[in-house]
Amino acid sequence: MQIISASYIKSSAIYTQCPPADKAEYAFIGRSNVGKSSLINMLCDKKGLAKISSAPGKTQLINHFIINDLAKDNTKAKQGKSWYLVDLPGYGYAKVSQKQRKSWTSMIEDYILKRTNLGNLFVLIDSRHEPQKIDLEFVDQLGEWQVPFAIVFTKADKNKPGATVKNVQMFMDALNENWADAPPHFVSSAIRGDGRKEVLDFISDLN
Ligand code: GDP
Repeated sequence: MQIISASYIKSSAIYTQCPPADKAEYAFIGRSNVGKSSLINMLCDKKGLAKISSAPGKTQLINHFIINDLAKDNTKAKQGKSWYLVDLPGYGYAKVSQKQRKSWTSMIEDYILKRTNLGNLFVLIDSRHEPQKIDLEFVDQLGEWQVPFAIVFTKADKNKPGATVKNVQMFMDALNENWADAPPHFVSSAIRGDGRKEVLDFISDLN
């Protein structure tokens, strides 16, 4: 899929404030610093679209972007449907209060379970680390909720040869202990552009 345009629309504190659910949307979530903003900017080929390393845990908002906004230019209609890309607030910040943690949980739970046009959730996992409890717990929760999700292993360029494959395998093995059907997974590097085509083609197939 080609990305012709990508623009910020709005930030919402609760799913009911999100834009009308009139087109499919694909959301990105992960631990703070996992490389979510960098991945979004790489996918959209637009530096500065999502804010890289904004103040950790400060604002917890659901950020909507519109991709390939056909309403603005009919000649682009050939390129396929427009869709929303959603940047969700990350988890695992060290410095957030119990109250903030709770509000994150209910905001995300509501969004994931009630946003009717959510086509897929991409859970980002840092490929440099062995499986982390916080990530496995989050993914297990998604499995229990039975929401469609895929995993994107980030920062592959930072690994020594073999380390990415090893960490990905360990994570997928850990998931397989609880779930019979492994979710789709991708390996990415925001620096090299790895995974861009694969993730966009996956979205295109769902769209
Ligand atoms: P976020 O908090 O999940 O949005 O993470 P950011 O996108 O802000 O990235 C956190 C840090 O990791 C920043 O210093 C990025 O430059 C760096 N980073 C993110 N993705 C990659 C990547 O694919 N490769 C490398 N080498 N660094 C990355």
